[in-house]
Amino acid sequence: MLVHRWLNGTLGDPAEMTPLRVVATIVAVCNLSCRHCFWHHDLEEVPVTDWKKQAQLIKSWQAGVDYAGRMVTPKGLVFINACLKAGVKKVRVTDHGYTIFNLPAETLARLDHVSISLDGVEEDHDRQRNKVGAFQKAWSAILKLKNMGYDPIASSCLSPMNIGHWAEFEQILVDYDVPLSVAMISTAEAVVERGVVGFDDKASCWRAFETLLSGVPKIVNLYDLDHVRYLAPILKDLPWVPDQVEGDGLLAKLPSGTEIIYRPQSLLWGAELNLRWDGEFYLPTLNGKTGINARPGFLPAGYAEMVKNLHEQEMGVWSPILGL
Ligand code: SF4
Repeated sequence: MLVHRWLNGTLGDPAEMTPLRVVATIVAVCNLSCRHCFWHHDLEEVPVTDWKKQAQLIKSWQAGVDYAGRMVTPKGLVFINACLKAGVKKVRVTDHGYTIFNLPAETLARLDHVSISLDGVEEDHDRQRNKVGAFQKAWSAILKLKNMGYDPIASSCLSPMNIGHWAEFEQILVDYDVPLSVAMISTAEAVVERGVVGFDDKASCWRAFETLLSGVPKIVNLYDLDHVRYLAPILKDLPWVPDQVEGDGLLAKLPSGTEIIYRPQSLLWGAELNLRWDGEFYLPTLNGKTGINARPGFLPAGYAEMVKNLHEQEMGVWSPILGL
């Protein structure tokens, strides 16, 4: 498993790794302007109309696909269908509720799963998503999917904006039996540049994490190394094991049923690629910054060295937590 190589310091050159997952963001526009979003919304769309080549490449890697918005447009549907036709093993779609039903029933039925972004109770969701009515749109999409026999996941971002009513929000999900996957708002520069306050000190980060641990069972995704650093005294008491599902992270299963997953950025740089609207594959976002084409020859000089340095920083934080 890749995470063993991360733990042993034997990741090797990420440029030579086969990706496990492709995050497809092939639509450059969005009707929302969420406060925590670090994507620009003024990008030109390159009219790629045929996604067969990319779909076949993804299939050859045996990678899964996360179609992560921003909207399911006709072009998005062409891409998703190309992946299904090519035999990509896991195709997952995340939507904000406005466009998921642009997928015909036969396409929906073939997805591995659907996530709908939902960031708290109505008032908080609409504030965080910067649009009145956004909660109702997302929530009715969840209920409609459930009525159709699917089991959609509520995918959330916990922030100082919605933490006040978080327990109330979780109760709604329990009442309607909707599973929850949540990440804490990032301290990435690109988010901070938008004037969004994150959990950027130890006290606020502890409060956020304890809020998540005390509620209903859920998946908590930790990405931010600053958060791990702040939370180290709590994390060192958790039962960390390699995550067996995709093999690219650490997992702690709590007696409450909550699962915490940490995926190191240095590992993601080999295990995950972003497919964009221009038909090209890019390295995953680092600190909210994107734009490094993953094709050989486009990688920056010293790329492997950069990843090695990042790995060292990560191990500096994780070694005491794991008792290494
Ligand atoms: S729905 Fe996604 S892409 Fe659109 S503004 Fe919100 S976070 Fe950004």
